[in-house]
Amino acid sequence: MSSLHLSSWRRILSVYLCLNQASRGQRLKELSQDTDVDPPPSHLGVGVVHHCPPAGKRDEIGSSQTQSGLLCTHTHIFKETAASVTGNAHNKAASDLQGPPSTSRRQGLGAKGLFLSLQIFWEDGIISGYRHPKSSALDCVLSSFQMNNETINIWTHFLPTWYFLWRFLVLSYSLDFWGDSYSWPFLAYMSLVCLYPFTSSCAHMFSTMSTHARHICYFLDYGALSLYSLGCAFTYGAYAMPDCWVNGPLHRYFVPTAAFNSFICTSLSCYSRFLELECPRVSKILRTVAFMYPFLFDNIPLFYRLLFCFGDGCAWNDSIAGYFYHLFFAALTGFLFASHLPERLAPGRFDFIGHSHQLFHICAVVGTHFQLEAVLWDLRSRRAWLSAHAPVAIFTHTFATLGAALLGNLALLATFTAALLRSAGGVSILQSNVPEAEPPKEK
Ligand SMILES: [Zn+2]
Repeated sequence: MSSLHLSSWRRILSVYLCLNQASRGQRLKELSQDTDVDPPPSHLGVGVVHHCPPAGKRDEIGSSQTQSGLLCTHTHIFKETAASVTGNAHNKAASDLQGPPSTSRRQGLGAKGLFLSLQIFWEDGIISGYRHPKSSALDCVLSSFQMNNETINIWTHFLPTWYFLWRFLVLSYSLDFWGDSYSWPFLAYMSLVCLYPFTSSCAHMFSTMSTHARHICYFLDYGALSLYSLGCAFTYGAYAMPDCWVNGPLHRYFVPTAAFNSFICTSLSCYSRFLELECPRVSKILRTVAFMYPFLFDNIPLFYRLLFCFGDGCAWNDSIAGYFYHLFFAALTGFLFASHLPERLAPGRFDFIGHSHQLFHICAVVGTHFQLEAVLWDLRSRRAWLSAHAPVAIFTHTFATLGAALLGNLALLATFTAALLRSAGGVSILQSNVPEAEPPKEK
């Protein structure tokens, strides 16, 4: 980052910090009352840290020495707390865990629980750029204009939301969404295409308000993604089925099965968060399966058209290239999600720009763009044939299925949220008592 760029950031941040000073003081007071822990020292903000402690006092921070020179990441919060749990206070940990109620409360979760609860925010291969784990909503919004390890995650889904909304608006002039039942599956698909990047950018923005907020934000993110997979099934069922499968058993039960799959996807992905710290490998596998399963099911018609169907009855047209690119980027998205590359190879190098989650977002959006173009091609070019051969119910049952799936998924999200709040008292890793940072120790 150039020095000119840095000084601009510094000026913007200084203005923000001045404006935010009063509300931040109040917020710190509230936090200290809420959590019965000391407020952070003056050099720590609730949002992104303004001043870093002198370099000599930040040995614990390690690579959190700011890359920009301005943003002191919160790695030291994790490191210091981890150190106080596993290092200096190691001998004290047992007595903390067994101590009187007042001590236990003040220590939050006890040594192990405290350490685990902080790990909720930790990402593999990302060393620096963390925001404060108890940021206010305003700080979360403002942090999207500062460089931290979530900034590009937020923008790589916020800007595409507006792109898809713009496409939706333009298409509403050429397609009769109100009067033409043939376009209804596409209407439902476009709504869900706009919903998933918006939910994702909000989840990334507000995920550092607390540990509870983080879990709930990602519950919503997973719910939107599983509904998007249902949106894909709407359009594939209505416009992408090969001619020879239209009116067949898969065609008739395709969308209802996809709606049922969305419940499985939401349930597995949300449940995986409960295993995230104690069984991270199982959690990762469960979440990957949760999204792979509806993806594979939805794409059965495409796999058949692209790989196994030749000649008449295969709906071989110009949309095939778009579907091919869509599948390529979808595969890349899955690979990035599962592999955590490139940051796994060079921890700390890609904290701000270029880590796998940012690339994952970009590939997902590019894949959706190609999918949208391909579906539009099928919708237009196959209209006469499909209107004559496909049953009307394929188009008209769209909103009933969508409504049922929406309600069912919302009920699942509410259930997992209730389970999270209920179990937080007994399961240390789900508790929200994230401690504030302690002042750096003098050497
Ligand atoms: Zn994301």
